[in-house]
Amino acid sequence: MNLMRVALDVPLATLFDYEVPDLLELQPGDRVVVPFGARTRVGIAIETAQHSEVSPEKLKPVARVLRDAPRLSRQWLEFMRFLAAYYQRPLGETVVHALPPRLRSLRPLPKAIRQCAPLPPSGTRFVARHTLTPAQTEAVSRMRAALGRFQVFLLHGVTGSGKTEVYFRLIAEMLARGAQALVLVPEIGLTPQLESRVREAFPQTHVAVLHSALEDVPRTAAWLSAARGDAGIVLGTRLAVLAPLPRLGLVVVDEEHDGSFKQQEGLRYSGRDAAVARAKLDGCPVVLGTATPSLESWQNGLAGRYETLSIPERAVPGARLPQVRTVDLRVEGEQHGFAPSAIAAIGQRLARAEQSLVFINRRGYAPVLACDACGWAAGCERCSTRLVLHAADRRLRCHHCGAEAPIPRACPTCGNLDLHALGRGTQRVEETLGTLFPQARVLRIDSDSARRRHEHARRLEGIHRGEGDILVGTQLLAKGHDFPALTLVCVLNADSALFSTDYRAAERLFATLSQVAGRAGRRETPGEVLVQTRFPQHPLFAALVRHDYAGFAAAQLAEREAAGFPPFMFEAALRAEARKLDAALEFLRQAARAVAAREDVIVYDPVPHVITRRAGAERAQLLMQSASRPALQEHLRALSEHLYAVHAPGLHWHLDVDPIEFD
Ligand code: ADP
Ligand code: ZN
Ligand code: ZN
Repeated sequence: MNLMRVALDVPLATLFDYEVPDLLELQPGDRVVVPFGARTRVGIAIETAQHSEVSPEKLKPVARVLRDAPRLSRQWLEFMRFLAAYYQRPLGETVVHALPPRLRSLRPLPKAIRQCAPLPPSGTRFVARHTLTPAQTEAVSRMRAALGRFQVFLLHGVTGSGKTEVYFRLIAEMLARGAQALVLVPEIGLTPQLESRVREAFPQTHVAVLHSALEDVPRTAAWLSAARGDAGIVLGTRLAVLAPLPRLGLVVVDEEHDGSFKQQEGLRYSGRDAAVARAKLDGCPVVLGTATPSLESWQNGLAGRYETLSIPERAVPGARLPQVRTVDLRVEGEQHGFAPSAIAAIGQRLARAEQSLVFINRRGYAPVLACDACGWAAGCERCSTRLVLHAADRRLRCHHCGAEAPIPRACPTCGNLDLHALGRGTQRVEETLGTLFPQARVLRIDSDSARRRHEHARRLEGIHRGEGDILVGTQLLAKGHDFPALTLVCVLNADSALFSTDYRAAERLFATLSQVAGRAGRRETPGEVLVQTRFPQHPLFAALVRHDYAGFAAAQLAEREAAGFPPFMFEAALRAEARKLDAALEFLRQAARAVAAREDVIVYDPVPHVITRRAGAERAQLLMQSASRPALQEHLRALSEHLYAVHAPGLHWHLDVDPIEFD
């Protein structure tokens, strides 16, 4: 009897054995329909087997094989095995979730896809936009030498240094050799400029765009064209790294430091790290590009595991890095959140018809609505956080669980009618700027304004053409945009991250501020960046003013090494949530005891999360550390075995390997 082990998306860490009917042509990598309990399910054939633990009379046959998508290759299955093992998730869940939702279901492919004829071969014509600068040329030729084998390059190029042009040259080279290129970006829907640049540079090439916000049909179609090898370029967010690419020859990870490459549910993979693992399996080079490398990648460069290539200057002739200055709030004071010199600088730009950007990393109107009389402050009923005031639609919103409430007319504890908005977010800053500069057009860009995608894209294009005098925005505006008329950036509240308990806060702040600063002066007009702070002497700002990433990184790495943090230690967190904190803590304690202690893995005591309650659940976590990745992996395997075996009703847990957030 022929047997096949099949991966199914059920929360069990095993494969399932099925009988293969004699006449059925079935190979590992095929999608199959199998009976499971009272239902049928779509699964993926993983490996043939000689015998089964299941008794013969209980073994069921595979019902049929689905041939509407290409067979998944051994190499791809190998990659899935790696991910499942590394991130401690069942192989079935990993494999099935790597498919677009449509291909996990029993529904046949939509007509629009079934009827489309196979694409003609993709052309490889490349339209160069610029003659490369010497630094770009040098980077390209170093990387070109590695095409055809595995190597990791860290392309450290300041903002505006023309990293995209460098990627394009390598992509062109690979396309000409008949290979596919995979380009990963943090958030694609929000940076439509890149997609059009790719299409302009490669006018004959099929470009498959993959991200989770796509509708069913375009997503399935893009995935299929990647998997069939029709698409020469696959451009997408982290999930694109999971697409089958039969002719993969180059991987690019743009803005590799960006936290959104990390998936925060299910298979908690890092798109960047997965890209490196994939390139290794496929034997091709991978380019990690950024102006502010993650300390992990930078350290890998210092240790010689990655080859670091630098582009220290901007590509556009005459464009220089902006002048960064701190504005000492202790000396200048502030009015409605602005230092007088910041207001003056914005006024100057208005007079010269140039754009300014005011950066504040908090959306909404104000982070707190409070009563002066009794000290009450509006809090979320389901989380241990405050509700954020959104003045435009007169609502209070929780930015952690999404709960909403109307603004109370009076203080619920003392009846005081005079409630105050404390602190400020983008909406309030927008209002203040409207009052200070009534003749100016103020445009706000944050995730509230970006909710309507088309409107958002239109607004960005408008800004690009020079519409809007003053832009107010969060991180969303910091990423990748190229606004030619922008010459001034004001950063409002950078200080809170300086003294955070999260050891990654400084790294993130430096990256964010470099990104925002990088928006200014991308053409001939020099840019200026004003950072309002009460701590102008802080080394982070000193490094920022000098555009000295390497100096900043050296100081951070020394601190991390002394304190025993990544990248010198590897980490994993086991997190649990329950109705009551005690239950979560107790679950973690038991899990810690269930695995034999070992000298090379440190297991800390379980602690509550900083924001303990979220969406009605109370949360705690157990941190594990080791200087050896294999040791930590072995420990986690033993821990997983225990976790998948225990029955803990009312309790949710997950493991996060290489966690980056600890809220
Ligand atoms: P980065 O991704 O490094 O921030 P981009 O690739 O977006 O930079 O390039 C920044 C700007 O410089 C773009 O407007 C691009 O067209 C331009 N540019 C890139 N390379 C060159 C070059 N060799 N000569 C002139 N302009 C260039
Ligand atoms: Zn009150
Ligand atoms: Zn909440």
